[in-house]
Amino acid sequence: MTQTTQQEHLNVTYLGLFANLGMAVAKITGGWLLYSQTLKADGVHSLADSITDLTAMVVLFLDSSNFSLDISGTQIKTESIGAVIIGSIVLMGGVLLGKEAITLTPTSSKSVNPHAMWFSVLSVLVKEILYRKTMKVARKNKSPALAASAAHHRLDSFSSALSLVSIVAGSLYPNSRVVDMACTGIVSALVIKEGMEVIFASGRDIINAEPKHAKVD
Ligand SMILES: [Zn+2]
Repeated sequence: MTQTTQQEHLNVTYLGLFANLGMAVAKITGGWLLYSQTLKADGVHSLADSITDLTAMVVLFLDSSNFSLDISGTQIKTESIGAVIIGSIVLMGGVLLGKEAITLTPTSSKSVNPHAMWFSVLSVLVKEILYRKTMKVARKNKSPALAASAAHHRLDSFSSALSLVSIVAGSLYPNSRVVDMACTGIVSALVIKEGMEVIFASGRDIINAEPKHAKVD
């Protein structure tokens, strides 16, 4: 990876990290103040995304020092290992969200404040911008890890759109939790699918890694 390419990857990852952290704080606070369980859950999702971004940055730093693991004479790229770690975190996030969908209980007797929807709308917009910016760099530099990260932003955008649906339904029908549970269930299934795709794709890279001493003397 050239220095310019690496700087571009770092810049777009920094942007994702700060956006995710900001949105996590905003959505958890907003969900708490406006009585939206889904918005809070979406905020926790953004917090998990921040961890993913941090992992991606650690991988970039390791890559810049040309770090690679040597397992039985086969050099494995840190980018593939990083992608497996990121995929596992995403997968765990999906499982936790799924668990939440099954065990979802109203924590407040107060119905959701419709203004919670503005947090979801803003989140969809921010995530769409992040998707476009990240995909542009991924295509330019042909980076599968960055493309996976962009696809994740798209998935997050859909996740926030579902939280919007849930907030609207919650304010129209304050006594029903069905939409809440269904939306959280769909989001968790998508997050699990995304995590597994990342793990399988990079797992294939690791299995097909070139042996270090390919030439027979
Ligand atoms: Zn996510």
